Parts: sequence; structure tokens; C-alpha cells
Amino acid sequence: MCNFVTFKFAWFLNKMNLHKFKLILQEKITLTANTQHFRFAIDDPSGLEYKPGQFISLHIESDGKEHRRNYSIANPPQQDNLLEIAMAFLPNGLASTLLEKTQPGDKLDASGPYGQFVLKDPVPPQRYLLIGTGTGITPYRSMLPQLRHLLETTNTKIVILQGVRTPADLLYSGEFVEFAASYPNATFKACYSREMPHEPQDFEVSGYVQDQLAGLHIQPGNDIAYLCGNPAMVDAAFQALQELGLDRAHIRREKYLSSK
Ligand SMILES: Cc1cc2nc3c(=O)[nH]c(=O)nc-3n(C[C@H](O)[C@H](O)[C@H](O)COP(=O)(O)OP(=O)(O)OC[C@H]3O[C@@H](n4cnc5c(N)ncnc54)[C@H](O)[C@@H]3O)c2cc1C
Repeated sequence: MCNFVTFKFAWFLNKMNLHKFKLILQEKITLTANTQHFRFAIDDPSGLEYKPGQFISLHIESDGKEHRRNYSIANPPQQDNLLEIAMAFLPNGLASTLLEKTQPGDKLDASGPYGQFVLKDPVPPQRYLLIGTGTGITPYRSMLPQLRHLLETTNTKIVILQGVRTPADLLYSGEFVEFAASYPNATFKACYSREMPHEPQDFEVSGYVQDQLAGLHIQPGNDIAYLCGNPAMVDAAFQALQELGLDRAHIRREKYLSSK
């Protein structure tokens, strides 16, 4: 009984404290065959204060009920009240269908920010491993200015691994390649699970992201890993990193679980 009351109270508080706002679509950009980038204006005079790595919820009315779908924020904070996300469309998905037909000027209901998938170490580790599959790479895009600052002011190394099936599925790779090329302590690798390009570039490797982990020579006291995206990848990489000696407290996870 006590637990139920506590749960209801927490639910009520959560409802009361939701920061709700409208998003006005400004632009859609096709990234891959099934993924689009959405740029919204935040229709709220108080703006949206968030940390790189957090996500927002879209609130969608359907069948007389309100449904929520979560999306990682893909752009860094303080960009003229803009909010960007990348969506991988699912056939007949509720949010997928809505966003597919949304046109510039249309408004969507949203709330946030949410989540603890942020860089939060008062003393940065010797190395951050930032690993994502599909749209799970977007939190790291939001973190790019923060990562640049770290690289310019500390000795922290940054490794970003993006897992996709084929070269055609890469997201924002130009930005990550440019980022890594700008700093000796930054590395970016694209890992292709299905198909390699005919003439791979230095940043392109074959296999799953978790196949790269052994080659990173994990140092348990010095590495902190972030895993984001496909739940199967997050579980597999979490297990692989622990087998390589990384403590679970040094592995932070954001699984893109379906809301159903
Ligand atoms: C914290 C968090 C952050 C997220 N960030 C992003 C993001 O940045 N970009 C993004 O595209 N998604 C993200 N997601 C996933 C997103 O919230 C939705 O689950 C996804 O977009 C599907 O929503 P939908 O309403 O279109 O489909 P739904 O109506 O939820 O599902 C449609 C159908 O697809 C099936 N299905 C659901 N999910 C999957 C899946 N992953 N693979 C295969 N089948 C599935 C369902 O069972 C159902 O049959 C995130 C999830 C979480 C929890």
C-alpha cells in the first residue's frame, strides 16, 4: 500500500513538474533512406535548458489517449532556441507516421529535458568511449562543443564509435570525421556490420561496434564508456566491456526501448 501511494505521489509530482512546450518544425533533412533530421524552433519564451546527451518527449494524441515517444537532442544547447532530433522511421509507428507527414510551420507537443546520459565527471577520465548505433549517435553530436573544450583544456582522449549496417546508413559522419581530424586525442570510427565500401577510408572498419572494444586496450581505472541506441548493442557492449575489466559503474547506458 505504502509503495503504491509513493508511486502515485511520484507520478503526480512528475506530471506537475513536466516542462511542456511546443516545437515548430522549421526544416526536415533526409539523412538516410529511413532517417530524417528535424530542426524545430522551441515555442517557449523561457527556452529549453538542457545538457548535451539529454532527450525530449513528443506527446501524441491517438485514440483519445496521450502517448509519449522519446528523442535524443541532436544539437548543442544555446543555439538560438533551436532543437534538433534525428528519427529512424518505423513502419506504421505512431510517432513515425506523425513526423513523416509533419510540414514546416506545424506544431508538436513536447516536454523535457530528461535523462542522465550526460558527461558529469567533475574530474574527467583519461578517456571517454562514446559508442552509438543508428540514431544513438545523436547525443554525441550534441556533446561536440563540450568534447572540443575537453580536448583543448585537458589530456582526456575521446573515442567515438558509430555502428551502422552500411556506409549509406551513416549519420553526421562528416561532422565526426572533421572533429576527430582536428585533435590528436580524438578518434572516430564507423563500424559496418553488413557491407564495407569498395575503397574504405581510415575511419571505416568492418564488424559490430563491440568488435572494436578489445582493440581499445581498456584501462579499468581510466576509461568511462557511454553506450546509446539499439538495446541489443547496448547489452552486448556492456557485457564485452565488463569482460575487458571495466567496472559497471564506469559504463553509462541509454537504450532506445520502444514505448510499447
Ligand atoms: C531515451 C530514448 C531516446 C530515444 N531517442 C531516439 C532518437 O533519437 N531517434 C529515434 O529514432 N528513436 C529514438 N528512440 C526510440 C523512440 O522513442 C521510439 O520508440 C521510436 O521512434 C518508435 O516510435 P513510433 O511511435 O514511430 O513507433 P511505435 O508506434 O512505438 O512502434 C511501431 C511498431 O514498431 C515496433 N518497434 C518499436 N520499436 C522498434 C525498434 N526499435 N525496432 C523494431 N521495431 C520496433 C513496435 O513493436 C510496433 O510494432 C528513443 C527511445 C528512448 C527510450
